[in-house]
Amino acid sequence: MDFKFSNRVPKQNNDVVGEILKVAGDPKIISFAGGLPAPELFPVNEMKKASDKVFEKHGQDALQYTASIGNSKLRQLVAKRMDSHKHINCKSSNICITTGSEQSIDLISKMMINQGDVVLVEKPTYLCALDVFRSYGAKIVGVDMDENGMKADSLETALQNYPNVKLIYTIPNFQNPTGRTMPTNRRKEVADLASKYDVMVMEDDPYGEIRYSGKSIDPIKHFDKDGHVIYMSTFSKILAPGMRLGWIIADEKFVNMFVVMKQSADLHSDNLSQYIVAQYMEDNNLDLHIQKIRDAYHRRASMMLKEIDKQFPRGVKHSNPEGGMFIWVEVPGNINTMELFKNCVKHNVAFVPGEPFYPDEIIPGTFRLNFSNMKDDQIHEGIHRMADAISEMMEK
Ligand code: PMP
Repeated sequence: MDFKFSNRVPKQNNDVVGEILKVAGDPKIISFAGGLPAPELFPVNEMKKASDKVFEKHGQDALQYTASIGNSKLRQLVAKRMDSHKHINCKSSNICITTGSEQSIDLISKMMINQGDVVLVEKPTYLCALDVFRSYGAKIVGVDMDENGMKADSLETALQNYPNVKLIYTIPNFQNPTGRTMPTNRRKEVADLASKYDVMVMEDDPYGEIRYSGKSIDPIKHFDKDGHVIYMSTFSKILAPGMRLGWIIADEKFVNMFVVMKQSADLHSDNLSQYIVAQYMEDNNLDLHIQKIRDAYHRRASMMLKEIDKQFPRGVKHSNPEGGMFIWVEVPGNINTMELFKNCVKHNVAFVPGEPFYPDEIIPGTFRLNFSNMKDDQIHEGIHRMADAISEMMEK
């Protein structure tokens, strides 16, 4: 049957990554393709205690509808944390709780993008964000990156070349997919360019707290003088993605309109989850919990990098993330990483090829590896299998 879908629905179902994850789901395969946090680090007992307490103290309220902007206790706790940990000067009236950053990206796009408006993104970037921008009819333009993230001079050139830019989307910390981080001076420049060209910045920071080496860097929002930056983060990587809770921080006027849009999307984010996370934060030291995640991911990343350096053929380059969950690899000689993927599957190992992360011009020979959800022996054996598959392709 012809369903007469709207223009927002992709013309053909080209869910490349879905297909990759399906193949990689075979239990024989060691898969570096996923992007999941390590489940053994979820604070299950503490969450259970928080949940029991919520049912005892606030059972009826927690099961009732709530305000679209979110639970007031949770918003206060987030505001306090963002001030102390991120140096973002904000009050709870600047915060709206969302159903994860994915919803933040969707609602901000819905608010800002008219058909044909330009969204500037890092090249490569988070592919689910690309799907959202496409669904609202945006023209997506990739901005060059280097080891330090989006290049400010390329950003300014794009702002000059495209007068109808509506949004700049950036992931400044341990970017998905590259693991790269933008230094302070660039963050200031991005904030200044947003003001100069009167364009909004969507600062997506799901991984910022998972820094396991180097010094923490203040977000772009810290340098925002006039409300051009919307900061967004999430409990998905520091607590549990299944709670589906994130937040945005923006100018109060922006938040008020965001709340109107959220109301028509889902009325509010899960009220019970919000109560439980607020209770968890009151009764536990979230910093100590995050430190456990950092320690585990640090060990896994270091092991994967060591194995890559030892086992991958000469000429292969990789990023050196100081946090987050991903390593980006570049193989020489224009190897098609979709073909490499097929060869790796024959060797019972998988990754995500770089192609789908590129908004426009694709740079060949790149791919993403996840380490957060991998055991030591899987890292060792999986990289070994990949090394064989890459060598075979390079010899061809
Ligand atoms: N932004 C980026 C860059 C991500 O990597 C992810 C999750 N993988 C999200 C947003 C969505 O996160 P959430 O679980 O908060 O919806």
